[in-house]
Amino acid sequence: MADVTPEPGHHPPAAQPPEVGELVDRAVAAVAAWEERFGQPVDHPSLHVDPGRFDAAWRELVRRMEGNFPFFHPRFAGQMLKPPHPVAVAGYLAAMLVNPNNHALDGAPVTSGMEREVMGQLATMFRMPPASLGHLTSSGTIANLEALWVARELQPHKAVVHGANAHYTHGRMCQVLGVPSIAVGSDKRGHLDLDAVGAACRAHDVGTVVVTAGTTGLGTVDNVHEALALRERYGVRLHVDAAYGGFFSLLAWDEATAAQVPADAFRAIAACDSVVVDPHKHGLQPYGCGAVIFADPGVGRLYRHNSPYTYFTSDELHLGEISLECSRAGAAAAALWLTLQVFPPEAGHGLGPILSAGRRAAQQLAAAVEASDRLRLHRWPELDIVAYFPDRPGASAAEISAASERMLHAGMQTRADPLWLSTLKVDAADFAARHPDVPLDAPTVTVLRSVLMKPEHETWVDRLFDRLTALAAAVTPAAAP
Ligand SMILES: *Cc1c(COP(=O)(O)O)cnc(C)c1O
Repeated sequence: MADVTPEPGHHPPAAQPPEVGELVDRAVAAVAAWEERFGQPVDHPSLHVDPGRFDAAWRELVRRMEGNFPFFHPRFAGQMLKPPHPVAVAGYLAAMLVNPNNHALDGAPVTSGMEREVMGQLATMFRMPPASLGHLTSSGTIANLEALWVARELQPHKAVVHGANAHYTHGRMCQVLGVPSIAVGSDKRGHLDLDAVGAACRAHDVGTVVVTAGTTGLGTVDNVHEALALRERYGVRLHVDAAYGGFFSLLAWDEATAAQVPADAFRAIAACDSVVVDPHKHGLQPYGCGAVIFADPGVGRLYRHNSPYTYFTSDELHLGEISLECSRAGAAAAALWLTLQVFPPEAGHGLGPILSAGRRAAQQLAAAVEASDRLRLHRWPELDIVAYFPDRPGASAAEISAASERMLHAGMQTRADPLWLSTLKVDAADFAARHPDVPLDAPTVTVLRSVLMKPEHETWVDRLFDRLTALAAAVTPAAAP
């Protein structure tokens, strides 16, 4: 980089693409060195492995693994999937070889502290109050369940309002919790319709409103800043489901990058009651890493319980005392801790450039699709998810759905140059609001969806677009004369 002038005689090592094998070796060696401190290895024949048996099983595993889709590669431009960063793998492996359980300090004397540290970093990323209380969970589903459970404990019998655009988990978990839930539609831009939420608050006894910062389907960001007024007016709690989009907050809080995202909405999370974010989506982590943060640490009392088994070595808070889950991988905390040391949640370096690259890729692909006569953009991306469909003048909703499905399958089945996409079923009314010229002959319309969450997508936009155009041409009958 031109603007870095090294001191005379000082040559900092250049940044390198990480070698997962090298990092894994370091993790294994570090744990082996630590184990040696406890004396000779202790052996038991019951744990021995027959080499032939292992070889056969291993070969079969490798054979079955061939059936995976290449989540790591930019040609996988479908769902929200990518491998963890090698740094996260090394951190996870090192801790996993020890296998701490972040339920209690007794089971996780080291990784409990790491969890506290990363929760502090995530709370700072959202500018939640410094005293806020949070913990990792094994998923966004569990994190949202905890937020809704806390809401129910604080406001028993009151309803939860969420968007029809929200993740399906909210309606489902309300059912689990025995809480009435009300799904509210979207406004013209595809955001939670806050007028309709207000009407629901007047018509029903509503305790909590769920807003989504980065929907799973289209990556749209509800107007969290405008939702704050609902709390004033109706005394509701505001919960933000930022499982997908939460890390984009760090771009919102930096002047240099704020214009890349709906910054007002992200900044308003700071004033909400609770927020959920999934480090296993945009935090470079392997699955098993969600997080929930409560602005008021007082909610910790709702979790109060006694464990006859575990809380014995310390009077300090055990993470299990503020979590609904019991056993949780300490390795997940170690992996996230190591990752955030190397990729801090900052806009200008660390995670920021990774998020910006995916968003740029989405904008570039969207622009190319908009200019194309083979493809039509469903809506302009707010984050890094692009939705589009094969275009043919006069095609009906059902024809568009069928062509999208054909494109999905044709992409995966092309041996020479495969492309993995995903589909999204859009409600016919929402679709018609954007594409009034399309004759509606079905209750939903299937469009294609590409989650460009890998920064490498930025280097592949042209290839992606060329493949999409070719696939659209192949699956769409020529326009009627
Ligand atoms: C992914 C997601 C969830 C569910 O989280 P899991 O980690 O898959 O359990 C909930 N809400 C939103 C907005 C999501 O994107």
